[in-house]
Amino acid sequence: MWWREMKKVITYLEVGEVTLSKTRRSTRISLTVRPDGSVRLSFPVWVTQKRALRFIDEKREWIAAARQKMALKYPERQAGNPPDKRVVETLRAEAKVKLPPMVARLAAEHGFSFGAVRVKATRSRWGSCSARDDINLSISLAALPDHLAEYVVLHELCHTVHKNHSHRFHALLDSVTGGQSRVLNKELRSYRPDTVINY
Ligand SMILES: [Zn+2]
Repeated sequence: MWWREMKKVITYLEVGEVTLSKTRRSTRISLTVRPDGSVRLSFPVWVTQKRALRFIDEKREWIAAARQKMALKYPERQAGNPPDKRVVETLRAEAKVKLPPMVARLAAEHGFSFGAVRVKATRSRWGSCSARDDINLSISLAALPDHLAEYVVLHELCHTVHKNHSHRFHALLDSVTGGQSRVLNKELRSYRPDTVINY
């Protein structure tokens, strides 16, 4: 009967395995992406499976973004959900909207000047700063929490002043991060850019 509680695992289109859970406790349709990238869809007993699955279709981009965040945060827990080209393109689009204004805002705030900002699908590092003060940023930054993406941007902006990792560079970075550079650096090290761009 459709109003009974139900739990099962199905394979749904390009999303892969989805655990469906119809419970009396649910009051609305809700989607969860677990740390391993698997998807759980729970919904009230009065909602049909067909309607609940339509919710997944509507949230396709959200699922891709949530998986990327989990892949960054829990690289060791990923269960066969490799990021596909589509996911990379979603991330690239997000990065192009989000990162250049972030660079401009932080540069203005702290008095840095820079050349061009380029957003690239770099796997090996979060960012770099050229001899001409052009800032290159990995699209993976778009999947980081904002305060860490900002920390990476500030690191690169400090390279417009010091082209090295000298004591003076670190003192400058520490001053523009309100004395938080060590804490932020430690937090950033729990993420890796190559877990996102893995195609
Ligand atoms: Zn550096």
